[in-house]
Amino acid sequence: MRTATRVIAAHGNPRPASVTVADRDGHAHDLPAQAMYVLIGGDPLTAGVEGWLRRDDQGLLITGPDLERDSGWWPLTRDPLPLESSQPGLFVAGDVRHGANERVASAVGEGAMAIALVHTYLNETRDRHR
Ligand SMILES: Cc1cc2nc3c(=O)[nH]c(=O)nc-3n(C[C@H](O)[C@H](O)[C@H](O)COP(=O)(O)OP(=O)(O)OC[C@H]3O[C@@H](n4cnc5c(N)ncnc54)[C@H](O)[C@@H]3O)c2cc1C
Repeated sequence: MRTATRVIAAHGNPRPASVTVADRDGHAHDLPAQAMYVLIGGDPLTAGVEGWLRRDDQGLLITGPDLERDSGWWPLTRDPLPLESSQPGLFVAGDVRHGANERVASAVGEGAMAIALVHTYLNETRDRHR
């Protein structure tokens, strides 16, 4: 295990054979490597909703009970529903949500939950306007 280390080159033809890594001081080392696992896709792309939806320090969207602990962002007197963002009626599912489990099955389950919660929200809104 090498921490604070970046892969800066990969070598081998036709198969991977080695990689060049650089440590935190910029020193490069060649290491044998027959395979690579590329771990990307973990950063939320939420900059566009800044100031509209409440985000945490990492850019993940804060929902449900976590909003109540973060005063000033929840505009209604009722509590936010689970998965409900700082905009009432807008629900968040999957990895982009603060506190998400970061697993495929959880994201799919939250998507299904979000649909049910939209119905709860619409019923409540309809009752309020009757
Ligand atoms: C390297 C890696 C390995 C993983 N391995 C596993 C595993 O083995 N098992 C497991 O259960 N989970 C694994 N996960 C986690 C799993 O991939 C996620 O939990 C799951 O994909 C979350 O689904 P999602 O729909 O919330 O987000 P995503 O699958 O990330 O989907 C979000 C989509 O929205 C798109 N998007 C983003 N911004 C915008 C925008 N502004 N407009 C339009 N589209 C946009 C993105 O391009 C993407 O297609 C892994 C994750 C990573 C990164």
